[in-house]
Amino acid sequence: MLETPLKEVLHTTKFHLSRLSELGVKTVADFLQYFPRGYTDQRSVTKISELIMDTPGIIRGKISTMHTTQSWHRRMRVTTALISDESGTIETVWFNQTFLSQKLKALDEVIVAGKATFDKKNQRVQMKSPQIELVQKEQVHTARIVPLYHQTELNTTARVRGKISSQWIREKLFPLMHFSELFPEFMPQEICDNLKLMPLGEAIRSAHFPASEKNLEEAKRRLAFNELFLLQLGALYRKNKWKTQSLLKNISIKADWELIKKFIGQLPFALTAGQKKALYEILTDLEKPHPMSRLLEGDTGSGKTVVAAGACLQVIKAGFQVCLMAPTEILAQQHMRTFQKVLTLFGVIPQLLTGSLTEKEKKATREGLAEGLIPLVIGTHALVAQGIVFKNLGLAIIDEQHRFGVRQRELFKSYGTPHLLHLSATPIPRTLALVLYGDQDLSVLDEMPPNRQKIVTRIVPESKRKDAYDWIKKEIEKGRQAFIIFPLIEDSEILQIKAAVSEFERLQKSIFPTLTLGLLHGQLPAAEKEEVMKKFAANQVQILVSTAVVEVGVDVPNATIMMIEAAERFGLSQLHQFRGRVGRGSEQSYCLLFPSSQNPQALKRLNALVKYDSGFKLAEIDLQLRGPGEVFGTAQSGLPDLKMASLSDATTIKVAREAAEAVMEKDPELKENPELKKKIEQQQNIVIDY
Ligand code: ADP
Ligand code: MG
Repeated sequence: MLETPLKEVLHTTKFHLSRLSELGVKTVADFLQYFPRGYTDQRSVTKISELIMDTPGIIRGKISTMHTTQSWHRRMRVTTALISDESGTIETVWFNQTFLSQKLKALDEVIVAGKATFDKKNQRVQMKSPQIELVQKEQVHTARIVPLYHQTELNTTARVRGKISSQWIREKLFPLMHFSELFPEFMPQEICDNLKLMPLGEAIRSAHFPASEKNLEEAKRRLAFNELFLLQLGALYRKNKWKTQSLLKNISIKADWELIKKFIGQLPFALTAGQKKALYEILTDLEKPHPMSRLLEGDTGSGKTVVAAGACLQVIKAGFQVCLMAPTEILAQQHMRTFQKVLTLFGVIPQLLTGSLTEKEKKATREGLAEGLIPLVIGTHALVAQGIVFKNLGLAIIDEQHRFGVRQRELFKSYGTPHLLHLSATPIPRTLALVLYGDQDLSVLDEMPPNRQKIVTRIVPESKRKDAYDWIKKEIEKGRQAFIIFPLIEDSEILQIKAAVSEFERLQKSIFPTLTLGLLHGQLPAAEKEEVMKKFAANQVQILVSTAVVEVGVDVPNATIMMIEAAERFGLSQLHQFRGRVGRGSEQSYCLLFPSSQNPQALKRLNALVKYDSGFKLAEIDLQLRGPGEVFGTAQSGLPDLKMASLSDATTIKVAREAAEAVMEKDPELKENPELKKKIEQQQNIVIDY
């Protein structure tokens, strides 16, 4: 019944059905779970005599007369009704809404919501185009807490123009509300009792048409709990499954501590305590008989790469292959250089695999991987392209894992069940990490390498631009290097590139004629990108003018100046990532923010960046200022599509986590909770799966 297609229960047009289906609403169940985006409280009814001019008000009365006339000018049909209550009478008018006169007639009891205004031409008080509804057992559109729905955009390309309005949705949903009783209760009774959760059917109904504020709060609490509970239960369930399912294939790798000592000893620096601990956690995890699934989280610049390299060496020396996937070509190439450096002593030679290799090169690499001749492959998305077979993959590392779509990561996982190590610099609050990555174990790098200095961050007003350029020149003459970043303009990459290109030319010609500038943007052929990055890394290019592509991972310790144009257009976490490109060596580094607007909200973000240097703190502020959807980008991060819950609701997250843990403890395979199991299995393709 819940799965009944809407066309069988709704009296409506094909057009409306197809617009609904674009919203993902196809069945009765979908429709009932199309929850309001908000509500307006329209409960207080006013006497007609007490209506305040030009202020929204709701009245309840009787229609005394109603008629429709043709207006002279503009060929309009005007419907006029007089409405009276015990205190007085008011005139109401509608234009071109002739269906009203079919629905309503004199003596009907109605509720009317609108603004009383004084009509100068007619010299009397009127309500123009108010919402009007017959008095019923339960009101739908007026005199209640009224649900507001996302309306569809006016679709001008479709054959039939039009949109679905919030009112239309209310009108059609209301008569279907009895279906809400059919939603099977999947939550264990014990949890419902302990947490005093509203029954599911009632919650769904009350989320649309609440009887009171309290009723609405309870409904929302129940539905938010559902989402956060199922997400976390799903994560725990999969974690458990990942650990037990692959026991058959023993890829336990014994740690060779002598080897690791040698590895650490030959590095150009001493590892931080955090790095040592993380490496130790990873290596002991690799010894277990089941595959690892671990997230190495650390602020940008905290030194995750070298930790991954240590793990990589151990796995290769045990006779397995390793692959490392990075989100951009630039980053893959950088990793190639790093890994070559730290692993040469051990005779490990990495191989690159990216989209820009020739077919012949790719083929050779694929063959090498299949035969097991290549121990370590570093690449981009090309690594999850079809046709790659590993002889015996032991460890898969994903750098900047939050930058990958769920699907890409999913594919990666399909190479047997190797150990998985994810690296991420998105420092998210721990509560959130539990929801998003709840099925991974967590290693955290919570300190920076010791040689780092605080990066001086300043907001620079336009009037100081010239001084800033002069100062940059001086710093470069002292041997330093700089980045100049151009922002995304109106979401258009092409425009962004244009801006960067013309600025690059201007800067090279008129501002820094004696220096060598390089240009980097997403549309450059990979070979050119590599060329520019190599030159920048070797200080043959002193200023790198770039679009947002340098954001992730780029590591050039001699660069000490990060100048960001129109900085307020970037998100806080992104700005923090940019800033993380400097301050990687021992020299004092600077981050100069050039705002292009004085919008107070935007300046608030920039000021936060000036004030704080912990990515963790900034992520929290960003989350508060913009909300999780904006911060992480639903599509990119594979963030679950939450309807009622908020990822900043730490309390519910925690309560739901504890409830999920209790269920898993008693029933790890969910044998006694088949309804829950079903729910989680349905959910698998929409949520993050690690
Ligand atoms: P991220 O965690 O952002 O990936 P990287 O791994 O790129 O950071 O490391 C940033 C820089 O810090 C690199 O130049 C790296 O060589 C250096 N580095 C890493 N660990 C240490 C350390 N313990 N001491 C000094 N420098 C380090
Ligand atoms: Mg990195």
